[in-house]
Amino acid sequence: MANVHELNYLKEKIEELKKEGVYRKLPILEGANEAEIILNGEKVINLSSNNYLGFANHPRLKKAAIEAVEKYGAGAGAVRTIVGNMSIHEELEELLAEFKREEAAFIYQSGFNCNAGTIQAITEAGDLIISDELNHASIIDGTRLSKADRKIFKHSDLDNLEQVLKENRDKYKNVLIITDGVFSMDGDIAKLPEIVELAEKYEAMTYVDDAHGSGVLGESGRGTVDHFGLHGRVDFSIGTLSKAIGVVGGYVAGSKTMYEWLNHRARPVLFSTSLPPAAVGAIMEAIKMLMESTEYTDKLWDNAKYFKQKLGTLGFNTGHSETPITPVIIGDEAETMEFSKKLLENGVFVSAIVFPTVPRGTGRVRCMVTAGHTKEQLDRAVNIFEKVGKEMKILE
Ligand SMILES: *Cc1c(COP(=O)(O)O)cnc(C)c1O
Repeated sequence: MANVHELNYLKEKIEELKKEGVYRKLPILEGANEAEIILNGEKVINLSSNNYLGFANHPRLKKAAIEAVEKYGAGAGAVRTIVGNMSIHEELEELLAEFKREEAAFIYQSGFNCNAGTIQAITEAGDLIISDELNHASIIDGTRLSKADRKIFKHSDLDNLEQVLKENRDKYKNVLIITDGVFSMDGDIAKLPEIVELAEKYEAMTYVDDAHGSGVLGESGRGTVDHFGLHGRVDFSIGTLSKAIGVVGGYVAGSKTMYEWLNHRARPVLFSTSLPPAAVGAIMEAIKMLMESTEYTDKLWDNAKYFKQKLGTLGFNTGHSETPITPVIIGDEAETMEFSKKLLENGVFVSAIVFPTVPRGTGRVRCMVTAGHTKEQLDRAVNIFEKVGKEMKILE
């Protein structure tokens, strides 16, 4: 009999991945995440990060991280409920609440943890969760951890959402509508004003995951709720500190009641050690920088418009993005993979996204322009896109 500890059942599955052509190695980045990086030993322009504002390696954030380490040490030493709740954790929550223009903000160790912890804590058996079909994996997992029932509505389809509400509202105690603020594959923004109106009409709560809206949309990156002027009308406003903010962590902003309850019931906070001081120090500096000036978000949008316009003029299909996320839609899966590979060989790193992450036949490379790119770097990237596009006959 085969030895179970050889994990043959996993070896077989790995072989299947190889046969399907989806087996991969992780790219290796040498040094900091910047506009230009050393990837697998080669210097390339980086159009693949979520480092929207160029904060990940910013001198001010690094200095703040070092100062926090000097004062508070390398680790928090325990979960918050025991002795891992440092004064900087509380300060960060107050700063985030002020930034988000909400009563309170509750922090987690990541955006993923925030969804895993919050959704199950605020719903129970007898409730219904209604989720956009394109919501992020961490929302799907968070929903699975809840004892509430769940239904899906078609992507940003308000008629479908209303139908689900109409058919189900009376059968449940509380109903929670969950949507991404910005959808990461196409860069489109949730139709939040309409969603909030429906939620108010049917007495449902709203939950917006603004991982790609944080630091990007709204005044100085305050997010989708601020972008639409919906303060006070969205119950749970989730943000990440890992993308535009450049560090790691997540939070939910909302009411004091929400804060009090999560303080007692959010499992990632009850059972997992709090954010390390270095991360907290750097995050606070980033939020202060955003509150001081719109310089960073202005630069991000300026670069994004510049790049999108140049690719469009060349004849690439950049989809219907409303944010700095810039997909270049190629279509065929194998051709998309080839396009990404050729771009890398020519000096631009931009990852290919194909089925099953996006529908079959809509393969794309997803360009993430940041405030950290110079116009010269963007011009160089555009020239490489043109060269490879012509070589592969994607462009005329
Ligand atoms: C990236 C992302 C997350 C996870 O955030 P992390 O802080 O990286 O864990 C959650 N939700 C959405 C919509 C995301 O895009």
